[in-house]
Amino acid sequence: MIELEGLTKRYGEKLAVNNLTFTVRPGMVTGFLGPNGAGKSTTMRMMLGLDRPTAGDVRIDGEHYDRLKDPLKYIGALLDAQAVHGGRSAYNHLLCLAQSNGIPRRRVAEVLETVGLTAVARKKAKGFSLGMGQRLGIAGALLGDPRILMFDEPVNGLDPEGIHWIRNLMKALAAEGRTVFVSSHLMSEMALTAEHLVVIGQGRLLADTSMADFIARNSRSYVRVRSPQRERLLDVLHEAGIVVVESGAGALEADGAKAEQIGELAARHQIVLHELSPQTASLEEAFMQLTAESVEYHAHAGPGPQAPPESQWGESWERSRS
Ligand code: ADP
Ligand code: MG
Repeated sequence: MIELEGLTKRYGEKLAVNNLTFTVRPGMVTGFLGPNGAGKSTTMRMMLGLDRPTAGDVRIDGEHYDRLKDPLKYIGALLDAQAVHGGRSAYNHLLCLAQSNGIPRRRVAEVLETVGLTAVARKKAKGFSLGMGQRLGIAGALLGDPRILMFDEPVNGLDPEGIHWIRNLMKALAAEGRTVFVSSHLMSEMALTAEHLVVIGQGRLLADTSMADFIARNSRSYVRVRSPQRERLLDVLHEAGIVVVESGAGALEADGAKAEQIGELAARHQIVLHELSPQTASLEEAFMQLTAESVEYHAHAGPGPQAPPESQWGESWERSRS
């Protein structure tokens, strides 16, 4: 379990992490989602005692990181763009880590096997591709067989096979009852791995919820309908009390009705349908909506000299929508 209490980090004028309070629980993958610059990496560095909080507190199984004896046995982490000493072989890199943390030597071969680097174990890490470096970083995180694992943007630099592998690894670790905390700026990635979500924007907590709840609360589901007898269909739907909005390309969007109900109504009135498709907003849309709201909130809360960062995100939001 990881517990954050009012965690705050200020770099000069910049409030990178703003009063975060949440708990990361064992037995599931918790996604840590936010656009670039939201404060994810800074939060994770504070969890590991690599950055000192300006205010607030983080506890790993009830203790501060600094006070853990052999911390790699409690928490393993892969940080964003993690540097590995290039001169050492993968094996020796892990062996050094193991020896300085009281971890038995045999774990080195085990984790190399887990991450698929056994064949290149004696090669210098300096010659590794980004993906192999990422796997070596993950091997280091697994070395102490910790109950808590933290991965900062782990799919960066991995090929599709590697991405598939790490998703399964995270789910398997969570299924063993471990705490798995993984960050991403990609909502599509989170949708496939995380059961619980913590969303931040501009360093502030925007949501702390199950994935299913997050989607349900932040998105809308509707049925898209197209018909060559559009006006007649509109009348029939109105009569049935179904709320309809007109969308682009002549399609209608019906809220709060099931596709079955609309299909049966159309059949009863002999209306031809060219499309009848239930739509649920994706996590991506829900995430955009949530962050957009926080942008508006900021804009209304007071313009001030700090306005540019919000409008920057506003622009990228507009861009990614188009
Ligand atoms: P994320 O990982 O979500 O992309 P970061 O935690 O890296 O976000 O950054 C959050 C904010 O803090 C950004 O605006 C970033 O520029 C700033 N920041 C991060 N590290 C430092 C630092 N060492 N010095 C000054 N500003 C920093
Ligand atoms: Mg980051």
